[in-house]
Amino acid sequence: MDKQSVLQERFGFRSFRDGQEALIDAILSGRDVFGVMPTGGGKSLCYQIPALLLEGLTLVVSPLISLMKDQVAALKEAGIPAAFLNSSLTPAQQREVLRRAGLGANRLIYVAPERLLTDSFLAFAAGQRISLLAVDEAHCVSQWGQDFRPNYLDITAFVRRLSRRPVLAAFTATATAEVGEDVVRLLELREPLRLVTGFDRPNLFFDVRRERNKTAWLRDYLEAHRDKSGIVYCATRKTVEQLCEKLRAAGFAATRYHAGLDDAERRENQEDFAFDRATVMVATNAFGMGIDKSNVSFVIHYNMPKNIESYYQEAGRAGRDGAPADCVLLFSPGDVITAEYLIQNGSDREQLDEETQTRLLIRDMKRLRQMQAYCKTDGCYRAFLLDYFGEAHRPTCDRCGNCVQREEPAGETVEEDITLAAQKILSCVRRVERKNGVGLGETMLVLVLAGSRDKTLLSREYDLLPTYGIMKETKRPLLHEYIRELVKQGYLLRPPGDYDVLITSEKAENVLFQNEQVLWRHAGQKKHTPQRQKTAVSGKPGAADQDLFDQLRTLRAELARQAGVPAYLIFHDATLLNIASAKPSTEAELLAISGVGEQKAKKYGQAVLAVIAEWKQEQQAKMPAKAKKKEPQPPLRLTPEQLARYVCDPDGISMTEFARRLTALKDANEAGELTGRQLSDQLLAEGYLKEQSSEADNLRRRPTPAGESVGITLTERTGKDGRPFTMVTLTEQAQRWLLIRLSEGLIME
Ligand code: ADP
Ligand code: MG
Repeated sequence: MDKQSVLQERFGFRSFRDGQEALIDAILSGRDVFGVMPTGGGKSLCYQIPALLLEGLTLVVSPLISLMKDQVAALKEAGIPAAFLNSSLTPAQQREVLRRAGLGANRLIYVAPERLLTDSFLAFAAGQRISLLAVDEAHCVSQWGQDFRPNYLDITAFVRRLSRRPVLAAFTATATAEVGEDVVRLLELREPLRLVTGFDRPNLFFDVRRERNKTAWLRDYLEAHRDKSGIVYCATRKTVEQLCEKLRAAGFAATRYHAGLDDAERRENQEDFAFDRATVMVATNAFGMGIDKSNVSFVIHYNMPKNIESYYQEAGRAGRDGAPADCVLLFSPGDVITAEYLIQNGSDREQLDEETQTRLLIRDMKRLRQMQAYCKTDGCYRAFLLDYFGEAHRPTCDRCGNCVQREEPAGETVEEDITLAAQKILSCVRRVERKNGVGLGETMLVLVLAGSRDKTLLSREYDLLPTYGIMKETKRPLLHEYIRELVKQGYLLRPPGDYDVLITSEKAENVLFQNEQVLWRHAGQKKHTPQRQKTAVSGKPGAADQDLFDQLRTLRAELARQAGVPAYLIFHDATLLNIASAKPSTEAELLAISGVGEQKAKKYGQAVLAVIAEWKQEQQAKMPAKAKKKEPQPPLRLTPEQLARYVCDPDGISMTEFARRLTALKDANEAGELTGRQLSDQLLAEGYLKEQSSEADNLRRRPTPAGESVGITLTERTGKDGRPFTMVTLTEQAQRWLLIRLSEGLIME
């Protein structure tokens, strides 16, 4: 075996990334190394591949339990025997790990630094041939870094007690000179190969936004990225809790993480995120070093961090799988005050002498100023970051908020007449003002215009306003844009001190009563979220493949559930995308795809190929059928007599079955059809159902509280294959409710 075949066969990757090969070669030749690579750069492989090629055992010192667990699980998935030793195991389990390791059962053992100098571990180590000691997150040894771990200082003592010194390999993503010096000195690396790879992460889209209403922006963003998973970083625990609550209330699968939560909740929430049960993680900077989740497709900073090192490390958690991802910082001047407070009152310097404290305080304030400068730059964000890390770069990129904006030629903006929309919106606000004497929030305004069945909306009786639902046809993000444009042009006002309320201005009268024209100047395809399509590194699948991609995701979720590991450990999104576009039909073709190693092909190949084969058959079957079925069926219209023949099913039935039974009531020679899908779409649009894109769970739609109040429920059923599944069910009450609405002509008209 050589390194190239290990890379291909075990890990399924075709080529090494920047820096990996040189570091691996050095380790294999017996030389110490110090590798500095950005988060997601691929540091783990640099010691994992030598571990398989060297004769003895490889120890990996790693700071966090979750990190070890994740890596060991990933190695096992690739068929590589590995284990970890930390305080999450009982003493008996630890003894068992050491016993099996003593028999040579593992190639790698991950160990927490606290464990190195314990008697049992020292005894174990004495009996082993340890050829490589890898130190992951090596910046933890330095007081200068963000994550100082005093126990990292034990590493040298441990190495000194070994009869034979192993090769030492240290890795970090922190590039500052002080930290680098500390790592080499404190770990006593011997003439290491020092290798700093490029810090650019081409698949990340950087942007800074000044939003008056960060929460509203975030909700829009999340709405537009429902099927994606990401992290929202906040400066304080309190913000985490409040924001997480708000997002949950708005129907997002959000969870939270900060140092004030108890261990059990932190672990549970982190797992929910890893397993895609929760798609949005709202957290302080306490969350992160321990996660290697590869399919994080956005990192939003709700507040500005304290320095660029932290920012780049946190933002870098996006897009580890190489797929395009967004890094957006929501800046507000208040963030600077919070950051200053946190720096001045931080507890991490308490044990240091006064002089050092002052020195660190000055340093931190300087770093904060640079972070502010980043937020304010109108130059290329990527260039700013790379400058900071001392790396050469092109003057601009085409993948950051500033470069993309500047690239839009001024002539390409269009002017749109939005008078009618403006009249509807202003009139709606006006009606609410008249009803309540006060205005209403932007979110609620959109709900009213869209005719939502939101509970609060109903309790305030906004559904009785004549303007309720007058803009149902308009997409909600566009409604938000209209509203903001009206604010910008001064037709709507946000009273000072309360950004969440909108009222009409005097100017609004002109639009409402004098037919004043409202023009909206914008860049053609107005963007309200970063345009990452432009940056696509591993392209999205074509329209035809999206379907296959979804099916593969479903399969992956099922495989992950069976194996009890997070989905991304089975295959990355990037790998699934490659599979969905290559559509392999043999195992050999599958193996040729980046990200598919031998072990995974063996374990999952058959299942994957079966899904693809079935999909291909379906496609073929669909073609002629589509041609035949050109004529779409008109909506179903039933007379009151026909409707009266419907007998409500007391056991509850699916929407498809309900639609089928209704359709069966029409006369045989009449056209017209109602499908379960139409019904479901309608209920979704009206707010009785909501979409839930959780991968662990195939169920896409579920009733909202409004839906439950009319009798739509979820029930557990058993499928033909004997497997249980959850179904959206129309109870007798819901069927009756729908019949009444049908008789009033409220459905499918
Ligand atoms: P780091 O520790 O540097 O943050 P990881 O070692 O966790 O990064 O690797 C990040 C991701 O990149 C992992 O999902 C890994 O599987 C993938 N990766 C590593 N090396 C390669 C490679 N040569 N080709 C493709 N993907 C790789
Ligand atoms: Mg790592």
